[in-house]
Amino acid sequence: MPNRFALKNYNYLPVNMPNFEDFKLNKQLMQAIEALGYQEPSPIQEKAIPLALAGHDVMGVAQTGTGKTAAFVLPILMKLRYAQGFLPRALILAPTRELAIQIDSAIEELSKFTDLRHTVLYGGVGTKAQIEALEAGLDIITATPGRLMDLYLDEHLMFKELNTLVLDEADKMMDMGFMPQIRKLLEVIPVKRQNLLFSATMPEKVLRLSEEFLEYPMMVEVSPQSTTAETVTQVKYALPNLRTKIALLELFLQNAEEFYRVIVFTRSRQNANNVYKYLCRKTNEEEIRVIHANKDQNTRINAMEAFKAGDVRILVSTDVAARGIDASMVSHVINFDVPILYEEYVHRIGRTGRAKQSGTAITFYTEAEEYHLQKIEKLISMEIPEQPLPDGVEIHKTPFEEAQAMAREIDNQKRRENPDFKGAFHEKKASNIAPKRKPNKNQKSGTGASPKKKKKR
Ligand code: ADP
Ligand code: MG
Repeated sequence: MPNRFALKNYNYLPVNMPNFEDFKLNKQLMQAIEALGYQEPSPIQEKAIPLALAGHDVMGVAQTGTGKTAAFVLPILMKLRYAQGFLPRALILAPTRELAIQIDSAIEELSKFTDLRHTVLYGGVGTKAQIEALEAGLDIITATPGRLMDLYLDEHLMFKELNTLVLDEADKMMDMGFMPQIRKLLEVIPVKRQNLLFSATMPEKVLRLSEEFLEYPMMVEVSPQSTTAETVTQVKYALPNLRTKIALLELFLQNAEEFYRVIVFTRSRQNANNVYKYLCRKTNEEEIRVIHANKDQNTRINAMEAFKAGDVRILVSTDVAARGIDASMVSHVINFDVPILYEEYVHRIGRTGRAKQSGTAITFYTEAEEYHLQKIEKLISMEIPEQPLPDGVEIHKTPFEEAQAMAREIDNQKRRENPDFKGAFHEKKASNIAPKRKPNKNQKSGTGASPKKKKKR
């Protein structure tokens, strides 16, 4: 009688099983979902899609790599249905050009059985092709705010028909860098429209900013904001200085079998360049690329595509690649520096462990960065497990200047926590490592030389 058992079990199971059928999408969209091989909606899709389809403003918060893009694209495609007129009816904004391009490709995939027209607008490249696409007429635009506003001000674009606005990486779009542009845009687009905001992080102060233009948004939180993806294993390594960070990075990357697709994040463009140059000397140059805001746009796009295609093993990047980028099978994210914008930690490590795959995030930190890492641990409500340094890492001495810079940073951190703090402790320590007298000897007692000592503070 196995069949009857099977039937019986079946009755228990499907009650809460989400199913794409439940959304009553049209057949062109169902076909696209099938072609992409999506079996069932992810939790954020399950919750946000019905609300968006019903016309609500939605604020969707869910971990990295859980399908937020389709959660806003599918309702838009369902709402717009067919190509119509010349003016865009949906606008999606993203913080980086690479992400805008990626969202536009997702629209391409999901709309491929419809006649809906879409394009992507971003800076750093000529405007000719973009203007042509606008003039040909289209339904959906994905854009970075700067280029969008330039084209608008040059009258290549009108927002009269716009009925849906999406802010992907919404907290980033509402930060100081972008909010002035967003406010300008809000003044020129129709007030009567649907707003969809998505991110894995949504700090309280950003939520308040969103009240400027959302009236009664439906808040959909799959997990508390800033929860890291469960699929990412996190570890941290305390390191005395830059040289030792490089040594550990090099050791890891030598193991190409395990570290088969890696993103190395650095705090600044300069650090990205330095790490890249160093690695090029040590490894096969063909398997490494670097991207940051000072690289020309085509180089950035090519690097990202080569990395996504698996032609390049190691991508060194600033936070320009932290948000939204969806490369499959990233084995490791390595935070060469601790991010100072704490939310970026969640986004950086979310480049691995996407769509139910697993991945590892490794964070290097010096004594001067420990302060920031502790803030990050508070944000993500977990302590990142510390790993002892593996055998074979060469531990370098901390040069005087670096030790002093770290001491100064630590003083500043203490002052931030306690304005009365005078900084005497570290000044004294730093003066102990006077370079001319004893360049290395006191190194161990010097600030930043031994993160192991930090527990005492
Ligand atoms: P997020 O924006 O939440 O970080 P993405 O929208 O970039 O995540 O999606 C991550 C990956 O998961 C993408 O490669 C996407 O194609 C895939 N994906 C999205 N929805 C589903 C689904 N329902 N089933 C399987 N894979 C999905
Ligand atoms: Mg996303």
